[in-house]
Amino acid sequence: MKKIFAANWKLFKTPQETRQFFKAFKEVSSQSTGELVFFPSAISLEAASQELVGSKIKWGAQNCYHQASGAFTGENSAQVVKDLGGSYILIGHSERRSIFGETDTQVADKVAFVQGLGLTPMLCIGETLQERESKKTFRVLETQLQLGLQKADKSKPLVIAYEPVWAIGTGKVATPEQVAETHTDVFNILKTLGFETTPILYGGSVKPDNAGELIKQPHVSGFLVGGASLEPASFAKIASV
Ligand code: PGA
Repeated sequence: MKKIFAANWKLFKTPQETRQFFKAFKEVSSQSTGELVFFPSAISLEAASQELVGSKIKWGAQNCYHQASGAFTGENSAQVVKDLGGSYILIGHSERRSIFGETDTQVADKVAFVQGLGLTPMLCIGETLQERESKKTFRVLETQLQLGLQKADKSKPLVIAYEPVWAIGTGKVATPEQVAETHTDVFNILKTLGFETTPILYGGSVKPDNAGELIKQPHVSGFLVGGASLEPASFAKIASV
Protein backbone atom coordinates (compact mmCIF):
# COMPACT_ATOMS: atom_id res chain seq x y z
CA MET A 1 0.00 0.00 0.00
CA LYS A 2 1.19 3.52 -0.80
CA LYS A 3 2.25 5.43 2.31
CA ILE A 4 0.39 8.66 3.13
CA PHE A 5 2.22 11.76 4.35
CA ALA A 6 -0.13 14.48 5.54
CA ALA A 7 0.65 18.03 6.65
CA ASN A 8 -1.55 19.72 9.25
CA TRP A 9 -0.81 23.43 9.08
CA LYS A 10 -3.26 24.36 11.84
CA LEU A 11 -3.77 28.16 11.98
CA PHE A 12 -0.48 28.99 10.24
CA LYS A 13 0.36 30.38 6.76
CA THR A 14 -1.42 33.16 4.92
CA PRO A 15 -2.54 32.57 1.31
CA GLN A 16 0.69 34.23 0.15
CA GLU A 17 2.85 32.01 2.40
CA THR A 18 0.89 29.00 1.14
CA ARG A 19 1.77 29.87 -2.46
CA GLN A 20 5.43 30.40 -1.54
CA PHE A 21 5.52 27.04 0.25
CA PHE A 22 4.25 25.10 -2.76
CA LYS A 23 6.63 26.84 -5.16
CA ALA A 24 9.54 25.79 -2.92
CA PHE A 25 8.08 22.34 -2.15
CA LYS A 26 7.75 21.39 -5.81
CA GLU A 27 11.53 21.80 -6.10
CA VAL A 28 12.35 19.47 -3.20
CA SER A 29 9.57 16.86 -3.08
CA SER A 30 10.41 14.59 -6.02
CA GLN A 31 11.87 11.85 -3.74
CA SER A 32 8.53 10.83 -2.22
CA THR A 33 6.74 7.76 -3.51
CA GLY A 34 3.86 8.25 -1.09
CA GLU A 35 0.59 10.13 -1.30
CA LEU A 36 1.05 13.71 -0.10
CA VAL A 37 -1.85 15.56 1.52
CA PHE A 38 -1.91 19.14 2.82
CA PHE A 39 -4.38 20.63 5.26
CA PRO A 40 -3.98 24.44 5.09
CA SER A 41 -6.18 26.69 7.24
CA ALA A 42 -9.56 27.53 5.69
CA ILE A 43 -8.71 30.96 4.29
CA SER A 44 -5.61 29.58 2.53
CA LEU A 45 -7.39 26.62 0.90
CA GLU A 46 -8.13 28.38 -2.36
CA ALA A 47 -4.49 29.48 -2.71
CA ALA A 48 -3.44 25.84 -2.20
CA SER A 49 -6.00 24.63 -4.72
CA GLN A 50 -4.65 27.05 -7.34
CA GLU A 51 -1.01 26.15 -6.70
CA LEU A 52 -1.78 22.42 -6.90
CA VAL A 53 -3.76 22.38 -10.15
CA GLY A 54 -2.32 19.59 -12.31
CA SER A 55 -0.22 18.20 -9.44
CA LYS A 56 -0.58 14.76 -7.82
CA ILE A 57 -0.45 16.40 -4.40
CA LYS A 58 -3.78 16.20 -2.57
CA TRP A 59 -5.26 18.73 -0.14
CA GLY A 60 -8.23 19.25 2.13
CA ALA A 61 -9.71 21.18 5.06
CA GLN A 62 -8.94 20.74 8.77
CA ASN A 63 -12.62 20.62 9.72
CA CYS A 64 -16.08 20.90 8.19
CA TYR A 65 -19.74 21.00 9.13
CA HIS A 66 -21.91 17.95 8.46
CA GLN A 67 -24.10 19.82 6.01
CA ALA A 68 -23.11 21.42 2.71
CA SER A 69 -24.65 24.86 3.28
CA GLY A 70 -27.18 26.75 5.36
CA ALA A 71 -27.45 29.05 8.37
CA PHE A 72 -24.27 27.80 10.09
CA THR A 73 -22.24 30.93 10.82
CA GLY A 74 -18.50 30.39 11.04
CA GLU A 75 -18.48 26.84 9.68
CA ASN A 76 -16.71 25.37 6.63
CA SER A 77 -18.34 23.50 3.77
CA ALA A 78 -16.88 20.19 2.62
CA GLN A 79 -18.92 20.63 -0.57
CA VAL A 80 -16.92 23.78 -1.37
CA VAL A 81 -13.68 21.89 -0.65
CA LYS A 82 -14.83 19.29 -3.18
CA ASP A 83 -15.80 21.94 -5.74
CA LEU A 84 -12.35 23.54 -5.42
CA GLY A 85 -10.68 20.18 -6.11
CA GLY A 86 -9.90 19.03 -2.56
CA SER A 87 -10.09 15.38 -1.61
CA TYR A 88 -9.66 15.01 2.17
CA ILE A 89 -11.19 16.44 5.37
CA LEU A 90 -9.40 16.14 8.70
CA ILE A 91 -11.93 15.21 11.38
CA GLY A 92 -11.78 15.12 15.18
CA HIS A 93 -8.23 16.43 15.65
CA SER A 94 -7.43 16.58 19.37
CA GLU A 95 -7.37 20.40 19.21
CA ARG A 96 -10.92 20.33 17.80
CA ARG A 97 -11.97 17.99 20.60
CA SER A 98 -10.22 19.74 23.50
CA ILE A 99 -10.43 23.43 22.52
CA PHE A 100 -13.71 23.47 20.58
CA GLY A 101 -15.54 20.72 22.46
CA GLU A 102 -16.11 18.48 19.45
CA THR A 103 -17.82 15.25 20.49
CA ASP A 104 -17.68 11.70 19.11
CA THR A 105 -21.28 12.18 17.90
CA GLN A 106 -20.32 15.23 15.85
CA VAL A 107 -17.26 13.37 14.58
CA ALA A 108 -19.48 10.47 13.44
CA ASP A 109 -21.80 12.84 11.54
CA LYS A 110 -18.83 14.51 9.83
CA VAL A 111 -17.23 11.21 8.82
CA ALA A 112 -20.48 10.01 7.26
CA PHE A 113 -21.16 13.32 5.53
CA VAL A 114 -17.65 13.57 4.06
CA GLN A 115 -17.76 9.99 2.79
CA GLY A 116 -21.17 10.67 1.26
CA LEU A 117 -19.69 13.56 -0.73
CA GLY A 118 -16.99 11.28 -2.11
CA LEU A 119 -14.16 12.87 -0.10
CA THR A 120 -11.87 10.95 2.26
CA PRO A 121 -12.23 11.60 5.99
CA MET A 122 -8.97 11.46 7.97
CA LEU A 123 -10.25 10.67 11.45
CA CYS A 124 -7.93 11.57 14.34
CA ILE A 125 -7.93 9.61 17.59
CA GLY A 126 -5.59 9.58 20.58
CA GLU A 127 -5.28 9.35 24.34
CA THR A 128 -4.15 11.99 26.85
CA LEU A 129 -1.12 11.46 29.08
CA GLN A 130 -3.38 10.84 32.06
CA GLU A 131 -5.30 8.19 30.13
CA ARG A 132 -2.06 6.48 29.07
CA GLU A 133 -0.66 6.55 32.60
CA SER A 134 -3.83 5.06 34.00
CA LYS A 135 -3.70 2.30 31.36
CA LYS A 136 -6.86 3.43 29.60
CA THR A 137 -5.32 3.88 26.13
CA PHE A 138 -6.95 0.84 24.53
CA ARG A 139 -10.38 1.66 25.94
CA VAL A 140 -10.17 5.33 24.85
CA LEU A 141 -9.14 4.44 21.29
CA GLU A 142 -11.76 1.73 21.07
CA THR A 143 -14.50 4.17 22.16
CA GLN A 144 -13.32 6.90 19.77
CA LEU A 145 -13.33 4.43 16.88
CA GLN A 146 -16.62 2.72 17.77
CA LEU A 147 -18.46 6.04 18.14
CA GLY A 148 -16.62 7.97 15.43
CA LEU A 149 -17.21 5.25 12.84
CA GLN A 150 -20.77 4.34 13.83
CA LYS A 151 -22.21 5.91 10.66
CA ALA A 152 -19.21 5.26 8.40
CA ASP A 153 -19.41 3.31 5.15
CA LYS A 154 -16.97 0.36 5.06
CA SER A 155 -16.89 0.42 1.28
CA LYS A 156 -15.73 4.06 1.04
CA PRO A 157 -12.25 5.54 1.58
CA LEU A 158 -11.23 6.36 5.16
CA VAL A 159 -7.91 7.10 6.86
CA ILE A 160 -7.21 6.98 10.61
CA ALA A 161 -4.56 9.18 12.24
CA TYR A 162 -3.45 7.93 15.66
CA GLU A 163 -2.06 10.94 17.54
CA PRO A 164 -1.29 10.57 21.24
CA VAL A 165 -2.35 13.96 22.67
CA TRP A 166 0.78 14.13 24.86
CA ALA A 167 2.99 13.92 21.74
CA ILE A 168 1.29 16.69 19.73
CA GLY A 169 3.41 19.82 19.49
CA THR A 170 5.39 18.83 22.56
CA GLY A 171 8.55 17.40 20.98
CA LYS A 172 7.79 14.23 23.00
CA VAL A 173 7.45 11.61 20.29
CA ALA A 174 6.07 8.17 21.12
CA THR A 175 8.82 5.54 21.17
CA PRO A 176 8.94 3.01 18.31
CA GLU A 177 7.76 0.37 20.84
CA GLN A 178 4.77 2.48 21.90
CA VAL A 179 3.92 3.15 18.25
CA ALA A 180 4.20 -0.55 17.36
CA GLU A 181 2.02 -1.60 20.28
CA THR A 182 -0.65 1.06 19.87
CA HIS A 183 -0.88 0.78 16.07
CA THR A 184 -1.38 -2.96 16.48
CA ASP A 185 -4.19 -2.23 18.96
CA VAL A 186 -5.78 0.28 16.56
CA PHE A 187 -5.52 -2.24 13.71
CA ASN A 188 -7.22 -4.91 15.85
CA ILE A 189 -10.02 -2.57 16.88
CA LEU A 190 -10.57 -1.55 13.25
CA LYS A 191 -10.60 -5.22 12.24
CA THR A 192 -13.29 -5.99 14.80
CA LEU A 193 -15.33 -3.08 13.42
CA GLY A 194 -14.87 -4.28 9.83
CA PHE A 195 -12.38 -1.58 8.73
CA GLU A 196 -9.23 -3.72 8.57
CA THR A 197 -7.91 -2.28 5.29
CA THR A 198 -7.94 1.31 6.62
CA PRO A 199 -4.51 3.03 6.61
CA ILE A 200 -3.35 4.11 10.09
CA LEU A 201 -1.08 7.17 10.22
CA TYR A 202 1.00 8.14 13.24
CA GLY A 203 1.08 11.79 14.37
CA GLY A 204 2.75 13.64 17.25
CA SER A 205 6.15 15.34 17.00
CA VAL A 206 7.18 13.51 13.81
CA LYS A 207 10.46 15.03 12.60
CA PRO A 208 12.97 14.18 9.85
CA ASP A 209 15.20 12.46 12.42
CA ASN A 210 12.57 10.11 13.92
CA ALA A 211 10.43 9.38 10.83
CA GLY A 212 12.75 6.66 9.47
CA GLU A 213 12.43 4.50 12.59
CA LEU A 214 8.70 5.08 13.10
CA ILE A 215 7.71 4.19 9.53
CA LYS A 216 9.19 0.69 10.04
CA GLN A 217 6.77 -0.15 12.85
CA PRO A 218 3.86 -2.53 12.18
CA HIS A 219 0.62 -0.99 10.89
CA VAL A 220 2.17 2.45 10.35
CA SER A 221 0.89 3.58 6.94
CA GLY A 222 2.34 7.09 7.06
CA PHE A 223 2.31 10.26 9.15
CA LEU A 224 0.22 13.29 10.05
CA VAL A 225 2.76 16.05 10.66
CA GLY A 226 2.20 19.43 12.32
CA GLY A 227 5.21 21.61 13.14
CA ALA A 228 7.69 19.85 10.86
CA SER A 229 5.38 20.21 7.85
CA LEU A 230 5.59 24.00 7.81
CA GLU A 231 9.00 24.05 6.16
CA PRO A 232 9.32 22.53 2.63
CA ALA A 233 12.65 20.72 3.10
CA SER A 234 11.71 19.20 6.44
CA PHE A 235 8.34 17.84 5.23
CA ALA A 236 9.92 16.61 1.97
CA LYS A 237 12.47 14.68 4.05
CA ILE A 238 9.76 13.08 6.20
CA ALA A 239 7.77 12.20 3.06
CA SER A 240 10.79 10.45 1.55
CA VAL A 241 11.36 7.83 4.27
P1 PGA B 1 3.03 18.01 15.63
O1 PGA B 1 1.44 18.06 15.34
O2 PGA B 1 3.66 17.24 14.51
O3 PGA B 1 3.44 19.45 15.66
O4 PGA B 1 3.19 17.31 16.95
C1 PGA B 1 0.75 16.94 14.84
C2 PGA B 1 -0.71 17.26 14.67
O5 PGA B 1 -1.26 18.02 15.48
O6 PGA B 1 -1.38 16.76 13.74
